[in-house]
Amino acid sequence: MSGGLPSDVGRRIFQNMTASTSVSSAKSAFPVSEEAQHLHASLLTLDSHIDIPWPDRGDVFLDTPDRFVDFPKMIRGGLKAGCFVAYQAQGALTDAGHKAASEQGIAMLEAIIAMGGEKHGIRSRICTTVDEITSAAVEGVLAVIPGVENGYAMGEDIGLLARFRQMGVRYITLTHNGHNALADSARPMTSLGDPESLHGGLSALGREAITEMNRLGIVIDVSHTSRSTMLQAVECSSVPVVATHACVRALRDHSRNLDDSQLDALKASGGVIQITAVDAFLCSPDVLQHRRANVADYIDHLDYVVRRIGPEHVGISSDFDGGGCLEGWENAADSASLTAELMRRGYDRSEISAFWGGNFMRVLRQAELVAEG
Ligand SMILES: [Zn+2]
Repeated sequence: MSGGLPSDVGRRIFQNMTASTSVSSAKSAFPVSEEAQHLHASLLTLDSHIDIPWPDRGDVFLDTPDRFVDFPKMIRGGLKAGCFVAYQAQGALTDAGHKAASEQGIAMLEAIIAMGGEKHGIRSRICTTVDEITSAAVEGVLAVIPGVENGYAMGEDIGLLARFRQMGVRYITLTHNGHNALADSARPMTSLGDPESLHGGLSALGREAITEMNRLGIVIDVSHTSRSTMLQAVECSSVPVVATHACVRALRDHSRNLDDSQLDALKASGGVIQITAVDAFLCSPDVLQHRRANVADYIDHLDYVVRRIGPEHVGISSDFDGGGCLEGWENAADSASLTAELMRRGYDRSEISAFWGGNFMRVLRQAELVAEG
């Protein structure tokens, strides 16, 4: 959906936000005007990539220093929905490695599922469809959307994908750093003995996994994959693919970022890139020697995608609790600063709403339709 919330819901959330954020935002280099706060509160805001601490720590229903994203910070930041992922680093491509990866993946998904409930006056819900996300936002219930980061979690067992879907998973990042049984990564790991390319992009199993993910309504996340993997996934998938947390290579030459031809392929297929708040993907080491990456750097990457392929193909992710953190967007409580910067750059309500989740949910919906079809 690209619209927002009924105005009474927006007002209620806005009152909660201004009560707690007006003092700190007055001092910020990225101030949030009352108009921006108000617009922000009226939107269905979704962050497409948030890690969970592992081993699990810090009660997500309490404002805890152990997490960049917990429910009180989401409420203060007017963030209505988040994709929380079961992430794991790449390990050995052995039976034992795959068994350990699937066990940890399932344990992490159980921890994410346990985030749904009601405590300390806060309500949250595991949401696995766009309709559920929308209903939760209208009811003032925080939406938790499960995901898996690294196809390593399925090892070589395609049957695990149905199990993940039963646990609510709406996207799987094909690789992390290091090649796995499904595909080549953007960053081969010499410590794991990776050659430059293991499969030349997708493996046969990787193609089979994409077909099964299409059947199940699981979106293919091409963040972390090699350029060949990404372009092959666009061709292979019957649903547009998403880079749930990545930046623009034309602005920062890093293997994790998407180059112009990849952006063009996303546009042609109807996919989306969700810009992410990782300093090393936004700014060069030279810049980062002198200052931190900030909200303006972040929106520069978003602007670039809009100019190149249009406002329908870009969105917002933090990678909080997985390395994301910027001046002006230190944690989920600062989420309105992005809306304020987007307004300063002249974007209108419908565009800002699309960036804050509308575009991403369009792909989720397409995946639901293909799965039903
Ligand atoms: Zn990642």
